[in-house]
Amino acid sequence: MSAGDPAADGRPVVFRNGLVLTMDDRHTVLPDADVLVVGDRIAAVGVGLDAPADAVEIDATGGILMPGMIDTHRHMWQTAMRGYGADWTLTQYFVWYYLDHGRLFRPEDVHAGNVLAALEAIDAGVTTTVDWSHGLRTVEHADAAADALESVPGRFVLAYGNIQQGPWEWATSPEFRDFHRRRIDGGRLGFQLAFDVTGDPSFPEKAAFEVARELDVPVTTHAGVWGATNDDGIRLMHEHGFMTPSTVYVHAATLNPDSYHRIAATGGSVSVSTESEQSAGQGYPPTWALRRHDIGVSLSMDTSVWWSGDLFSAMRATLGADRAREHLDAHARQETVTHAHLRAEHVVDWATRGGSRALGMDSQVGSLQAGRKADVVLLRNDASPVMFPLLNPYGHVAFQAQRGDVHTVLVDGRVVKHEHRLVGVDLAAARRGVEATVSYLMDAMGEEAWRRGMNPDIPATAVLDNPYTYTEWDAGSAQWKH
Ligand SMILES: [Zn+2]
Repeated sequence: MSAGDPAADGRPVVFRNGLVLTMDDRHTVLPDADVLVVGDRIAAVGVGLDAPADAVEIDATGGILMPGMIDTHRHMWQTAMRGYGADWTLTQYFVWYYLDHGRLFRPEDVHAGNVLAALEAIDAGVTTTVDWSHGLRTVEHADAAADALESVPGRFVLAYGNIQQGPWEWATSPEFRDFHRRRIDGGRLGFQLAFDVTGDPSFPEKAAFEVARELDVPVTTHAGVWGATNDDGIRLMHEHGFMTPSTVYVHAATLNPDSYHRIAATGGSVSVSTESEQSAGQGYPPTWALRRHDIGVSLSMDTSVWWSGDLFSAMRATLGADRAREHLDAHARQETVTHAHLRAEHVVDWATRGGSRALGMDSQVGSLQAGRKADVVLLRNDASPVMFPLLNPYGHVAFQAQRGDVHTVLVDGRVVKHEHRLVGVDLAAARRGVEATVSYLMDAMGEEAWRRGMNPDIPATAVLDNPYTYTEWDAGSAQWKH
């Protein structure tokens, strides 16, 4: 860092001498290269760039420069309950949020969760996040969600949802229309409709799809979730003509090949939340099947009520799950996998371009190319023994790096994190907001319900007899005795 304050708005920024993963169409990798940012755009990427005299210079030596990462499905309001559901299953999650306690959340609680989640995202180099906001049971909640997203200098897409009503109810209400007109039309915030399709043969969700079509906004939907949504929902969407290239299918883990064919044929993409699918039980993380159907993949973290919101863990878990499946399938056939299909380069692509393609933002973000919006991440950590040697850059991002290695983040050309610290954000206010929500929820739920919710019962496990602990042969019964 040479000249001046990196947070000073409006000055050009030049990163010097980094290993640049451009993530352009050819996945060009440039060693010892620079990235120049002027205004909200990337002005140039290359070696030994000339920079304007007033440019802020950031030394990227020993680091990796990559595009800001993109999360296509995160229930940001739930970040107010960070870690509470670490031991949940999907069933316990549904009972807690959908049935028992989700409606306790007030607009200020949605706001508190969203602010914290937004800060968490940019801190981890996730510069674009879809807020899969299904706790919007009134428009006041929606305004609070939008206010929160607008208060943090990241790029956000508000995916509007409400689990307390059918989508055919809330999406057709005048209040919802008014919200869209007031807060979204022509504004900076991206927008989607977020709802699930139950498979009811009368297809009541049709009315909500029609609203999405009329407003020309994408639909994002939890599809192929064990015990919740299935192939019937996909078939109904397809038969009614509501599967489009902008549709995002979240999880898509418990689907038959016919559904994958319908998704592939209509050009939609799947948001894979590997850590969630592995732990909660939506189905096996589906990248192994999506690859075979040539369906686009983006990555997501789902909810910080279980996991933290960084895409390093998403990339790592996705590589592991895909390869584990490939090995296991092969072993069942008495075969050996000698070449893994899924590469580190693929998951880095999914964490960047996969997201920009899914969101229809590929000409704006997702790659480091002149003319693109300047959403830039520098991974550099001089104090870490894990940052060298840098031999395989994609492998380094997917398997070695972590949130603490995120040194600098730019969103829209603005420095939002520098030297490992968020810049120009009020973390103390975010903390106060979440603390107020937590104490309100503890009061509203009562101590017993709060404690039980966090500590679900453990089912009984029958421990098998262990033949190696037997000590004595009983000749009479011809058995080992303890
Ligand atoms: Zn979800």
